[in-house]
Amino acid sequence: MDMLIGGKHVSGEDLEDVVNPYDGSVIDTVPIAHLQTAQLAIDAANDAKDSLVEMSAFKVSNKLYSVCEKLKDKREEFAELLALEVGKPINEALVELDRSIETLKLAAEEAKRIYGESVPLDAGLNGKGFFAFTQRLPLGVVAAITPFNYPLNLTIHKIAPAIACKNTVIIKPPTEAPLTVMKFGELLNEEFPDGVVNTVTGYGSEVGDYLVCSPEVDKISFTGSVTTGMMISQKAGMKKVTLELGGNDPMIVLKDADIDKAVKGVINGAFLNAGQVCMGVKRIIIEDEIADEFADKLVAETEKLVMGNPLEKTTTLGTLISENAARQVEETVNNAVRDGAEILTGGKREGAFYQATVIDNVDPEMDLVVRETFGPIAPIIRVKGIDDAIKVANDTEYGLQAGVFTSDYASAMRCAQEVEAGTVFINKQSTFRTDNMPFGGFKNSGVGKEGIKYAVEEMTKTKLIGLNLR
Ligand code: NAD
Repeated sequence: MDMLIGGKHVSGEDLEDVVNPYDGSVIDTVPIAHLQTAQLAIDAANDAKDSLVEMSAFKVSNKLYSVCEKLKDKREEFAELLALEVGKPINEALVELDRSIETLKLAAEEAKRIYGESVPLDAGLNGKGFFAFTQRLPLGVVAAITPFNYPLNLTIHKIAPAIACKNTVIIKPPTEAPLTVMKFGELLNEEFPDGVVNTVTGYGSEVGDYLVCSPEVDKISFTGSVTTGMMISQKAGMKKVTLELGGNDPMIVLKDADIDKAVKGVINGAFLNAGQVCMGVKRIIIEDEIADEFADKLVAETEKLVMGNPLEKTTTLGTLISENAARQVEETVNNAVRDGAEILTGGKREGAFYQATVIDNVDPEMDLVVRETFGPIAPIIRVKGIDDAIKVANDTEYGLQAGVFTSDYASAMRCAQEVEAGTVFINKQSTFRTDNMPFGGFKNSGVGKEGIKYAVEEMTKTKLIGLNLR
């Protein structure tokens, strides 16, 4: 598939295979862009700025609605491509499509709500006699750099609000799974003037880095790992940056919890997308008194998952993004077992598949739970009470989301207030997001928020205009 720059299809001399992680077949090839090509995309996005700024909000909104309708018509086609390149079960790919459609709709709505406000300057010293108001203006060119696990919806979470507030965009899709995003770029380009949407494929460390360092790019909206995010924040200079990074989300289960509900939360939270979810349940922190019953029930439910061809409707556990990724998970689990953790079910790799795995007696110091393990793993950490649970939950560099299961109101409120995370759900696991909510982590999990309205705030600049009436 070609890149899209200034409304034109652009190929390259060097091509990279996009591989189906399920069977190793080549789905398509994409160009490995050189830096000159990245510069062409930057030029095209800058040249197109006026075409978008001159468009009425009414028209921008209608065009986003049209793209939304087009994506709805192609829902199944897009979902199949997503399942092929990511290895996620087709039913999960369809959910990603439904969320993508919803995200676009929210952006079409938000395009009509880019308000300023009147500001009473007379409330400040010597401010009498003015009429003043603010305007929210586009930043200019927004570069969207996205990861492989939810490539379509995470890219739309950047480019749809960017366009809603009249920024042009350059998309750097994930190297492993670029196709769905590139195809979506084509849909947007059918509606908007040439250069409003540009896609550049290639390596993050080259093309991505070039976009991050360019003075002609006004904002970097990045979703990906903490390591890459930290590098970006060091190199971006004065441009605005939003960083949606990794997570190591705790699920606290207290002794008065509804155990069946908590078990269901782990099945959804730890095994969705084969555990490759930033806000996945990555640490189950449970009071010792109920841990045995919880573990038995969790094992029984985990063993019901069906590992197989992602395109089969009956499959509930797909592959990881590559065999290499599955090997990394295998090594991390094996190290934890060597250090005393106990596998209750799963624990085996087959090519790019890794079985849904429940591991008990995990020590909070083990690498398995200190770092973000991106695989279908449910590690159980047993604790003595709520104080211990909160301490273990917070003893991490991450702070994306958290879930707390309890039937006691006071315990729920205490955890909600003391757990350091961008979102805390009570009686719901992390791994839950509606596309309008403010989403973004604390600590090393990120900087800034997404969720259309909040992304628009981060993609506009505020100008004050004051009229001296005296
Ligand atoms: P990654 O950081 O390896 O890559 C993400 C993107 O950055 C890719 O497009 C990659 O090509 C690009 N990139 C790599 N090096 C770069 C550089 N030097 N400069 C600019 N761009 C560069 O992440 P990944 O492995 O694709 O994704 C998994 C990670 O993403 C996990 O840590 C996961 O938790 C995180 N994630 C976070 C969220 C969130 O919303 N907080 C959502 C999904 C995934």
